[in-house]
Amino acid sequence: MPPKDAARPTARGKNPGRNREHNRRVVLDLMRQQGRTGRRELARLCQLTPQSVTNIIDDLIAENLILPAGRRTASGRGQPPLDYEINPDGAFTIGIELAVTRMTAVVVDLADRIRVRTSFEVADMSPAGALPRIEALVAELRAGQPGRLMGIGVVMPGPFEIEGFSGVGPTTLPGWAGIDAAAALTSLLGIPVAVENDANAVAIGETLLGAGRHLSQFGVIYFGTGIGLGTVSSGTLMRGAFGNAGEIGHIVAAPGGRPCPCGQQGCLERYASTHALRERLLASGRSGDLAELDTAHPETDPVLDAWLDEAAAHLAPVVSILENVLDPQTIILAGGLAPDWLDAIIARMRLGTSVARRSDRALPRVIRGQSGTFAAAIGAAALPMHEAVTPRLELSEVAPLDTERMEQPG
Ligand SMILES: [Zn+2]
Repeated sequence: MPPKDAARPTARGKNPGRNREHNRRVVLDLMRQQGRTGRRELARLCQLTPQSVTNIIDDLIAENLILPAGRRTASGRGQPPLDYEINPDGAFTIGIELAVTRMTAVVVDLADRIRVRTSFEVADMSPAGALPRIEALVAELRAGQPGRLMGIGVVMPGPFEIEGFSGVGPTTLPGWAGIDAAAALTSLLGIPVAVENDANAVAIGETLLGAGRHLSQFGVIYFGTGIGLGTVSSGTLMRGAFGNAGEIGHIVAAPGGRPCPCGQQGCLERYASTHALRERLLASGRSGDLAELDTAHPETDPVLDAWLDEAAAHLAPVVSILENVLDPQTIILAGGLAPDWLDAIIARMRLGTSVARRSDRALPRVIRGQSGTFAAAIGAAALPMHEAVTPRLELSEVAPLDTERMEQPG
């Protein structure tokens, strides 16, 4: 049983059936969490009438998204009720991560199993170079899967469309500034494509498939090429007004420190990012290939040892700030570094005082993500899944803004 402050709230269904789409999400979400379940149990857990549940189950069976799973052993009079379970072959999503020189993709089925992982170098990640590769990749992945493709998620480094702030520098993709990536990809692939920055996608990925499964309030600090934060609040991603919430890479962590392409000095990303690590490797005459880290040991490698210390030292105060701002259940550290390396950074962080310093904590203040080096691609695949199956609070349940009283300051 999860600790009491770590429980993820279960959404309720709404009677009558005018909210059929919402109820359907509630049932699918619950079946994905619970595994094998019966009608009566679903009706009780979702607070729906047995008839509503029956209708939804019939629809889901017709769409091949769930399957009858037999009857339980009889325990009393009469025939025991029929159970149902998610049909893993019923549907799948594709997630693609575009990094500066590498494209990574996964196929995730309806039962959250990762069916395909692939990753390859792409020299030209501009739209002209990347779009044909994406088209070919999707055709190949699609051909190998049974079931329906529910959607495609693509992650790329943010921030998006910030004048004079980014769109330049080594941790963003060349040539994408000013392009509506979601519209371009949707028209290219003929299916809705969700585009998100990597940290936000990883936060959704950890919610559906990873360390955030039983959490409703948490932040994910993601080591991509740069560094970013994805925040989940009440089970929902905080995207911000322009989709750039959590752009912590350009928080000044060392005033007067290393110059950053954004124009400031001492940005967090200049210390705690794989780009900063690569710079250190290159400066010491090494290849800068992060694959060599798989066999490296920081205890015997002074360059790596120094980078881990530096990354941890600059991250720790940012973690305390995030805790004070967000009051999360925990902060998850995830990204394109091997699990050992993320553990080493967590172990080296000297966290200061913040609201998170409580004696009754259910989880440590910082934990490692569970989706591994494919975290961003898995997060990308989770975006359309989240869109299709996760219940959400409707606007009608939120008190309307009193616009009459919101006068502009004179
Ligand atoms: Zn910067």
